[in-house]
Amino acid sequence: SFENAKEQSKLLANDLINNPKKYRVLTGDRPTGNLHLGHYFGSIINRIKLQNAGIETYVLIADYQVLTDRSVFAEISKFTYELTLDYLACGLDPENYKTYIFPHSHIPELNQLTIPFLTLVSSSELNKNPTVKEEITASSMNSINAGMYTYPVHQAADILFCKSNIVPVGKDQLPHIELTRKIAKRFNTKFNKNVFPEPVAFFTSTPNILGLDGTQKMSKSRNNSILIKSTSDETVKLIKSAKTDSNRYVTYDPENRPEVSNLLMLASLCSDKNPTDIANEIGDQGSGKLKQVTAEAINTYFEPIRKKRKELEQNKDFVKDALLKGISKARETAIETLSEVTEAMNMKIQ
Ligand code: ATP
Ligand code: MG
Repeated sequence: SFENAKEQSKLLANDLINNPKKYRVLTGDRPTGNLHLGHYFGSIINRIKLQNAGIETYVLIADYQVLTDRSVFAEISKFTYELTLDYLACGLDPENYKTYIFPHSHIPELNQLTIPFLTLVSSSELNKNPTVKEEITASSMNSINAGMYTYPVHQAADILFCKSNIVPVGKDQLPHIELTRKIAKRFNTKFNKNVFPEPVAFFTSTPNILGLDGTQKMSKSRNNSILIKSTSDETVKLIKSAKTDSNRYVTYDPENRPEVSNLLMLASLCSDKNPTDIANEIGDQGSGKLKQVTAEAINTYFEPIRKKRKELEQNKDFVKDALLKGISKARETAIETLSEVTEAMNMKIQ
């Protein structure tokens, strides 16, 4: 099904660009840290492409979702600000496009959708979710709260409140999108009204960037990422710490050499070369050379983005205004949808 979704993304790409009015995008991130290269090549580049094609793009900051698996909350609003800075530096542009950035905690009508949605899924469906299981394993929680099991339902409300039909995400989100499709369909059937579309995941060509450990996905929570905002020096140091293998001859072989191949893929994404050609150029010069080439490619690619980020750091009001504008539009949309939902459920007072 992951392979199907990847194939489907390729087929969709042209229609998205040619018929922007047919589509509405929603994606998001948790304010648990800064964006890393997994976010960038797994999702952000697609968001920018779709925005630039003229598609209405909702970018949601999932602050409530932080409560599910964290024990420290002192930095949620700081990271909401930091994420917004990252977005703007990467090229999301609420000034010139129909792009709306907002934290979902600020859209009460969106969150009200969660209550009927919870009645549309079974507890066994929630228990089986592979991404939730993996996140529970990766976290250090010794007791799991109900919010952790139910956040995919809340996330369905995130996606459906604006009736989005395209969700640019990484591989880990596929089970959540599938659940969202079920919820949309079941709602429409149960209440006999076609309120929601069935959204599809939209992948980049690299929907699962590995972390520096070479095994798990790159993730804010797993201490294995290179941040978009990292300095050149930090990037060099981080890449030096990346796990590789003992074979001096560098080859691109994701199946058997995931660590080396992940670095080659990052170097490739940041240059115009394919990973096999980069491997051939390095040949028997070993992982030292591979790391040097990769760090240089990343630093060259991200130089303008990092520069823009520095400039934006000086303009706090600009960042705040972007959020206020996003909140205002998202609320307008959520109020409309909730009204339709209340009517479909026959709860309007007479
Ligand atoms: P956390 O550790 O707090 O869960 P995260 O690094 O997993 O953070 P999220 O905010 O959960 O990031 O994910 C935001 C989006 O980025 C999702 O669409 C997710 O699929 C995508 N994404 C995250 N990590 C990667 C990765 N390594 N490769 C590709 N896409 C990714
Ligand atoms: Mg995550």
